Amino acid sequence: SNIAVAIDGPAASGKSTVAKTLAKRLGLIMVNTGAMYRAVAWATIQHGVDPADSAAVINLLDRVDFTCGVENNLSTVLVDGVDLGDALRQDAVNSRVSKVAAISEVRELLVSMQRDYLELGSVVMEGRDIGSVVFPNTPFKMYIDASEEVRRKRRAAEGIIDDPTARDKEDSKRKSSPLVIAEGAVVIDSSEMDVEQVVQAALTVLRE
Ligand code: C5P
Repeated sequence: SNIAVAIDGPAASGKSTVAKTLAKRLGLIMVNTGAMYRAVAWATIQHGVDPADSAAVINLLDRVDFTCGVENNLSTVLVDGVDLGDALRQDAVNSRVSKVAAISEVRELLVSMQRDYLELGSVVMEGRDIGSVVFPNTPFKMYIDASEEVRRKRRAAEGIIDDPTARDKEDSKRKSSPLVIAEGAVVIDSSEMDVEQVVQAALTVLRE
């Protein structure tokens, strides 16, 4: 049966790059769950909905079609049939996404779509609550961390206007599925490591 590798951690910890590399080497599907929360945040902008107004956001979930899929072993998310690509990384999305992610109805919908991926094959899934909520029973859990300074620098190097630590604070204090180190997760501090070193550390966890 299919397996799930759960990779969680704060923003800009390097977990996406590691998840992608790991999935490619192991021939698994890589699922980026942040893109799904970003898609909901994007829809609030398009429809002029206040992301902090839970009732309005929940109502939007019925009016907008969110479809998840896979292309070249990478997860995709379509909003009313459109793949938004880099538009999901814009500043306006960064500043709204933690608000929609704090709404439990949003999380319930997206978590069920995330679990469905396991029917398509084995996955490396990255996010904030994969080891704690989405796949709590998987033996393969990692929490990839990095110092605040390193994370700010990584984002700046990508040329992205984003304060990852502000989102981490919102993501850590929310009531529904806050960012936590899942029970049984191996913590990898990537501050002083390059991508290959983190990938090797992750492969060691999978072999144990
Ligand atoms: O991973 P990324 O930085 O793209 O995630 C964007 C935001 O989506 C996070 O800051 C968080 O608010 C939310 N998120 C979440 N749970 C996940 C993945 C992302 O709440 N599993």
